[in-house]
Amino acid sequence: MRDPRSLPKAHLHVHLESTVRPATVREWGGPAEPAGAFRTFREFGDQRAKVRALLITPERFRRVAVEFCADEAAQGTRYVEVMFTAAAHGERVGDPEMPLKAVLDGLAEGRDRYGIECRVLLDHSRRRPVERMWRTYELAIRHEQVIGIGLAGDESHPLAPFAPVCDAARDAGLHLVHHAGESAGADSIREAITLGHTERLGHGIRVLDDDALVAEVRELGLPLEVCPSSNVLLGLVPSLAEHPLPRLRAAGLTVTINTDGETALADEYARLRDVFGYGDADLADLATASIDASFAPPTLKAELRAGVNTWLTTPPTGSDAGPVTSTWPGTSAGPGDSPGAS
Ligand SMILES: [Zn+2]
Repeated sequence: MRDPRSLPKAHLHVHLESTVRPATVREWGGPAEPAGAFRTFREFGDQRAKVRALLITPERFRRVAVEFCADEAAQGTRYVEVMFTAAAHGERVGDPEMPLKAVLDGLAEGRDRYGIECRVLLDHSRRRPVERMWRTYELAIRHEQVIGIGLAGDESHPLAPFAPVCDAARDAGLHLVHHAGESAGADSIREAITLGHTERLGHGIRVLDDDALVAEVRELGLPLEVCPSSNVLLGLVPSLAEHPLPRLRAAGLTVTINTDGETALADEYARLRDVFGYGDADLADLATASIDASFAPPTLKAELRAGVNTWLTTPPTGSDAGPVTSTWPGTSAGPGDSPGAS
């Protein structure tokens, strides 16, 4: 068995605000991390809101970004598209640009210090006004490192009111990636495709509710950003062993593995090996899928794919062969923001 930490990976679904280190939260006087799974989505949201309220100064936003880069690099992540709810933070702190600028500074420092390449996707909660989605769009088009926008949050709120923003974003050359098929069913996925122009499905696990949709998503080659432990932690799936991941792969869908910010990425790969009996070739396939599904520049994609191949074809060394801990619920993620934030 090779060490998943040395497998080059792309991380495509992770909310920056959910990755604040527990030690950092404690240092800022924030709430302790819950011991196990959240009982309700609301409980989860409340916990995350308390941590979000701690993000008030440029120094704190910047620090969260630098620590995120350090933690991701330690997991063998080489390229990240990280979600950040920039417009909501800007409104909350009374300075529209500051949170995003501070985060971009921190990610640049993280790149220099840890060799990890980051791009940003700005997310917007469906529960919040369309007007703020326009602010999100405006922030996105002004910053080169921001490559796209998307809707997150409670999928019982329809996407349709946000369709004009999605049209504008597509016309401006931004990428679009929406949460869909997580808490809501097949209709939320159809809406994300037709009205939202989504290029991947954030979660998308409930595609399996509808055979016709499975065929459509497969034919479109639309990658799924699957976050198994997050689904368990938020009570959407009863246990990891019952997670639909193997069925999604068996259906011929393009599946990538992500954390949502709720655990660490290499730990998640190790957990899948433990629970589903995946071998190194499976893990390499999942890593390659993450690279292919990313919006990384072609040269970087080629380099990372070659790295995956090297990982798989080089015999594990003594120091490389040790199993990564797959303790629940993971190690590096701590209390942060809710998916979709506020
Ligand atoms: Zn999410």
